Amino acid sequence: MSAAPTFDFLPPLLPANAGSLRAEVRDLVARERAAGRVAVKDRIGMAYNAGFSRACGEAGLIGMTWPKRYGGREATAMERYVVTEELLAADAPVRGHWVADRQSGPVILRYGTEAQRERFLPPITRGECFFCIGLSEPDSGSDLAAVRTRAVREGAGWRLNGTKLWTTNAQNSQFMIAICRTTPQDMKDRYHGLSQFIIDLSLPGVSIRPVINMAGGHEFNEVHFEDVPLAGDALLGTLDEGWKQVSAELAYERSGPERWLSTWQVLAELNATLGPALGDEAEDRIGALLAETLTLREMSLSIAGMLERGMTPNLEAAIVKDLGTRFERRTVEVTRDLAELATERGLAVPVRLGSLLASAILMMPAFTIRGGTTEILRGTIARGLGLR
Ligand SMILES: Cc1cc2nc3c(=O)[nH]c(=O)nc-3n(C[C@H](O)[C@H](O)[C@H](O)COP(=O)(O)OP(=O)(O)OC[C@H]3O[C@@H](n4cnc5c(N)ncnc54)[C@H](O)[C@@H]3O)c2cc1C
Repeated sequence: MSAAPTFDFLPPLLPANAGSLRAEVRDLVARERAAGRVAVKDRIGMAYNAGFSRACGEAGLIGMTWPKRYGGREATAMERYVVTEELLAADAPVRGHWVADRQSGPVILRYGTEAQRERFLPPITRGECFFCIGLSEPDSGSDLAAVRTRAVREGAGWRLNGTKLWTTNAQNSQFMIAICRTTPQDMKDRYHGLSQFIIDLSLPGVSIRPVINMAGGHEFNEVHFEDVPLAGDALLGTLDEGWKQVSAELAYERSGPERWLSTWQVLAELNATLGPALGDEAEDRIGALLAETLTLREMSLSIAGMLERGMTPNLEAAIVKDLGTRFERRTVEVTRDLAELATERGLAVPVRLGSLLASAILMMPAFTIRGGTTEILRGTIARGLGLR
């Protein structure tokens, strides 16, 4: 009898040099703060600063796990984890290089040709080349088999038509890795016939229009392709097998510390200001949130360790994203309750905490949508556990 399917969070081990890596990142952030490239923000959300990304590249903090011949430093996934956690906790403006470091580069390394690796990976590690993710479209987000963007063979290359939506940071990116239909859909296997392409966003026929979010920020975009001529070497990986590549990519996207540290600035500010002022009631609720942070961190670290061992822990990554984004929402709710309690007691809500909270309330719906909605993740978890 085969064993019942289960999930497995292998115990993580922090690298011996975690302390020195943290110091390295903290020094860099302090230097960049002094140079005016790292601000203390009063709203949540990853900021963009091309100069800061270049500084990270110079410090060897991008593509850390990649081979040295492509500009990496052959560090472990756990070492990279320590660095990403520090950068997020410092609220550093990492938006520019984040996607390329987290998923585009690893996908190119895993599925790309040698020429693609040599072309894209070194400039990514220098913090000069930014990527965005082209999955969602106006009529397909959760159901990616329904994408309508089409790449049709033309001579040695391809002609691309379609629209990608909610594309974070396209306005500052040079390239997008997009999933496109290359063979008409077959209802027997809806995911066959999709392929990934590396699209140069400066090509004729590409237009990028801003989509302003509820908080008034320009994070995402609509990217339209009209008869865009792609060279033959824009294809990434195996023709028609792009779905498998995307599935592997999603484990990187869903399990990182950014999935539960988005509201860290709110929690840290709450803990430092209203926490002491409100006493016991605040202590209980903030303490519970901080304890949860530690559990999530262990789980997320465990996934970094599994990725390092070459595993694809999609089920575990979906669990971390579901728990992590619910935790982020709870952080906002607890902060709102405690701000109300403070007001009732005649205590002023500190200005920065109030601003962080206001922006977090507006961003809250995004937490459980980006990177896969909660309903979809729970479907993945149920399937992974053999329950459906
Ligand atoms: C801040 C932010 C940044 C983003 N950045 C990017 C990006 O850079 N690149 C990119 O490609 N996309 C990006 N997205 C898009 C995101 O991936 C999609 O919004 C998400 O996958 C959901 O797709 P959708 O919006 O089409 O909603 P739909 O798929 O239409 O879903 C609508 C609702 O129906 C539910 N639903 C759908 N199917 C099922 C089902 N089978 N079972 C149960 N419930 C279901 C969903 O859970 C959801 O509640 C971003 C989104 C946000 C909020």
